[in-house]
Amino acid sequence: MKKPQTQPTKLTISYDEYLIKFRKLLVSLKLNNSTQREYVLKLFFECQEHLTADEVVLKLKQKFNITIGIATVYRILSFLEQMKIIKSLTLENETSKKYEINLKTHHDHLICNECGDVIEFYDSELERIQELIAQEKGFVLTNHHMILYGICEKCRR
Ligand SMILES: [Zn+2]
Ligand SMILES: [Zn+2]
Repeated sequence: MKKPQTQPTKLTISYDEYLIKFRKLLVSLKLNNSTQREYVLKLFFECQEHLTADEVVLKLKQKFNITIGIATVYRILSFLEQMKIIKSLTLENETSKKYEINLKTHHDHLICNECGDVIEFYDSELERIQELIAQEKGFVLTNHHMILYGICEKCRR
């Protein structure tokens, strides 16, 4: 079997461009602008990592020097997820979730069961095979998200 050709993922829109859309969305939902919400959004744009709610609290403090309580962060995360602006990844033990911006090019994930580290990958061959499997089963694919759970290189040492 040939080695998979994985490609790096990238954002499909900048924060400034997206912010305009985001504010319009809030108006259409009759919601007030909230600086806190915008900071959380900005954080996901700036550090395109996979963050737990606790990490969001921490990074907001580190990056922007603002303090938002964990309960508020959870509320904001759940709103952003509902709006499909971020998405969550469930760890195999299901005790915690990680969130990431949902505005990146399509990719799938490897997640370490020990340290929770998340690695992104995209492989066109794998994508094609999934299409074929779906077709064979009479399925029209609308979306997919693959997570491979295991132990990462660091934790195996
Ligand atoms: Zn995929
Ligand atoms: Zn990702």
